[in-house]
Amino acid sequence: MDEANDLARLYEHYRQMNQEKFDSLLPRDYTIQFNPLLRRLTGRITYSWKLIEISEFHYRQYGYADAVATLEHEMLHLYLHTLGKPSGHNVLFKKAAEQLGIRVFHANPYPKNRAPRHRYVYECPSCGRMVFRKRPQERHAIACGVCCRMLADGAWDERFTLKLLEKVKFA
Ligand SMILES: [Zn+2]
Ligand SMILES: [Zn+2]
Repeated sequence: MDEANDLARLYEHYRQMNQEKFDSLLPRDYTIQFNPLLRRLTGRITYSWKLIEISEFHYRQYGYADAVATLEHEMLHLYLHTLGKPSGHNVLFKKAAEQLGIRVFHANPYPKNRAPRHRYVYECPSCGRMVFRKRPQERHAIACGVCCRMLADGAWDERFTLKLLEKVKFA
């Protein structure tokens, strides 16, 4: 991800959308920033600081297209604010959002250290022990530690190379 370049693209997008969706009514001197501290929100606008902030976390998680959706959402707040209308997530906001193809909500699904939902199941051809891995072991074949310890003096031994059985999915 090229954050500096994407920030430049967001400025350009602001300029374009101002023309295409907001009749060029929006101020041209707003600052757009990635904010590393915003987590719960995808973005935020502060009129008094002429500042639109995009959550760096959500940008990294969901990519540039998501940052664009957030930017347009904040621009819609700004549009209503500029017109002197209530600029919260009110009926007007939702109607305009629908007409302009703008996302209404501020939040993305927010992962809370969820454990991976898959495991790769390996089996030792010698003792039949099953071993679970989060990722497929592509580069280095893994061998059964128990068999290597007991039958090969602890050295990696090809005879005990684990065989991939299946990928299982947790509920
Ligand atoms: Zn909002
Ligand atoms: Zn084994």
